[in-house]
Amino acid sequence: MPPNATTDSHRILVIDDNAAIHDDFRKILQQSSQEKVDLLKMESDLFGQDVLPESTTRFRVDAAFQGREGLEMLRRAKAENRPYALAFVDGRMPPGWDGIETIKRLWEVSPDLQVVFCTAYADYSWRDIQQSLGPTDGLVILKKPFDNLEVLQLSHALTRKWALNRDVQGRLRDLAFNDTLTGLANRVQFMDRFAVTLSTALRHGHKAALLFIDLDNFKRINDTLGHGVGDELLQTVAERLRRCLRDTDSIARPSLPGLAARLGGDEFTVILPEIQRGEFAATVARRIVEHLSQPMDLGQHRVLVTASIGIALIPQDGDTVETLLKKADLAMYAAKRAGSNTYGFFQDSMTALAQQRFTLENQLRHAIARKELSLHYQPQFDLLTGRLSGMEALLRWDNPELGKVPPKEFIPIAEECGLIVSIGEWVLRTACAQAAAWIAQGLDIPRVAVNVSVHQLVHVHFLDMVRDVLAQTGLPPSCLEIEITEDLLAVKPEIVLTTLRGLRALGAQVAIDDFGTGYSSLSRLKELPVDCLKLDGSFISDLAGGIPDQALLDAMIAMAAGLGLRVIAENVETHLQSSFLRDRHCPGGQGFHFSLPMPRDQAEAFLRGEKNKTRPEAIPPGRVACQEEERGQD
Ligand code: C2E
Ligand code: MG
Ligand code: MG
Repeated sequence: MPPNATTDSHRILVIDDNAAIHDDFRKILQQSSQEKVDLLKMESDLFGQDVLPESTTRFRVDAAFQGREGLEMLRRAKAENRPYALAFVDGRMPPGWDGIETIKRLWEVSPDLQVVFCTAYADYSWRDIQQSLGPTDGLVILKKPFDNLEVLQLSHALTRKWALNRDVQGRLRDLAFNDTLTGLANRVQFMDRFAVTLSTALRHGHKAALLFIDLDNFKRINDTLGHGVGDELLQTVAERLRRCLRDTDSIARPSLPGLAARLGGDEFTVILPEIQRGEFAATVARRIVEHLSQPMDLGQHRVLVTASIGIALIPQDGDTVETLLKKADLAMYAAKRAGSNTYGFFQDSMTALAQQRFTLENQLRHAIARKELSLHYQPQFDLLTGRLSGMEALLRWDNPELGKVPPKEFIPIAEECGLIVSIGEWVLRTACAQAAAWIAQGLDIPRVAVNVSVHQLVHVHFLDMVRDVLAQTGLPPSCLEIEITEDLLAVKPEIVLTTLRGLRALGAQVAIDDFGTGYSSLSRLKELPVDCLKLDGSFISDLAGGIPDQALLDAMIAMAAGLGLRVIAENVETHLQSSFLRDRHCPGGQGFHFSLPMPRDQAEAFLRGEKNKTRPEAIPPGRVACQEEERGQD
């Protein structure tokens, strides 16, 4: 921090070979209070509002007889972080350097030092001085003999100028090296500090660690609650990171404190420049995970954020900044895949995994163009009448290099790299076109259900896209059901609500998929334009488990009925489960017990047969081959 321009004392260095001059400067700059008041008045006229009557700029004067001695004092003051603001330098100081040489040397050490060059009239011309010292605004010439007031005026004006310069430079430095939003170190400072940490650790043979931190659900919060809340969230995260480092530093007392940085977006890093053992890095990471997962109150919103952290250790994980960053990043991804809200160390196997993911992402980019995607259709039934109530379209990817890749594996990747928007559009178009074609053939398909990921739903053109698909395929809107997972509802109101209302306005239906495992609050359910709840498979597979699950199921069915929602129980696999559901008056069901998801042609054959059928009891014998293929894939 630069010293305050009006109240702090400024250090002034006098370099003159005459001891009497040293005394003069001390007297002038430590004048009587009356003189000071006069001067302040004068200063006030000169500088305006800045100078308050009670402000007192005090000077601390040190003196040297020779340039060399002055230079030493300047160096020491700088090293002690008590720099001189101003030097009065005599023109001639035999037998040592003259004034010009002295100033040149002083500026080599402190380029921002303000200098008053004290010289008798005939000694040097301004041109001589400029030629020797170069163009500068840090120099004033004072002709000898000088007046006390001149010395005072110059001291006030030049020390103030020095302080303001430092202030501006400090701010510029802040801008260049700190993240403006959070105040943490920015990428530039981080790279710089990490390079120093690395070389120091390698030279002295000690351990250090890099933590790579990524927020798990930031993008969704930002997209749905808006950037204002997103910014506040990042500031809160930064504050919590600082607190974690302070806490852990005070416990472990490392010789060098940790540094937190924001690399951009929701990516943060922490450098632990000197650690005894790798476990200390884990302790810090654990604390960060714990602190960050505490609820945050941002405006009217209470938000839950979690973080995934990857740790790379110096020296064992590498000896270049790039390698260590990459490994910490890989470890972070592994932590995310392990379920988020956790941390992990880099392991060699991760490089192979990353390679695999890279291949998958690359192949996925061409999947639509190379016609590797297809849809399977799984029937949904009205359990009370036994009639077909809909068909859920489920995406399949068959790649020549990777084989059949299950959706649980490639959809998260498509979401992360943004491909889900185009893939999702392909799914919707294909499913709607297919359903329209079946209807045109006179087949009875009451509804086609299409899964839509949160990333698609919050996309600005989502509703336009749905409208366009319905118009182009000619599918009656009431025959389309959009399935969304309930975690979408955790984050957010406006966008979700607007989109769901938009879907309803189009005439399409909305189902909440995998209901009961995520965040939905029942009270919110009431406000949402939703038509159907798909009870998560885990409730049904636990049914044999006993009373509590049955009670839960009963409660959910009753609640849905109260809200006027349809219900489909997912993953019905056995006759027992099916009859149990019917006994509890569960209106709908879907699962391997009734039918596996089927490729288009089989689904079509199924629909033709379905025309004359009621009450589904078991998978028709003819479809066993297809079931086994499906099971093998899942
Ligand atoms: P989901 O939407 O809940 O789909 C149901 C999943 O359960 C399907 O897995 C289906 O094959 C499986 N399933 C059906 N009946 C049973 C059963 O009786 N027992 C068991 N254990 N499983 C059953 P699939 O096709 O592997 O899809 C997995 C998830 O991938 C889907 O879960 C959905 O969340 C996502 N998904 C699939 N297709 C798409 C798509 O086109 N877009 C998006 N965004 N997500 C999709
Ligand atoms: Mg679904
Ligand atoms: Mg589901």
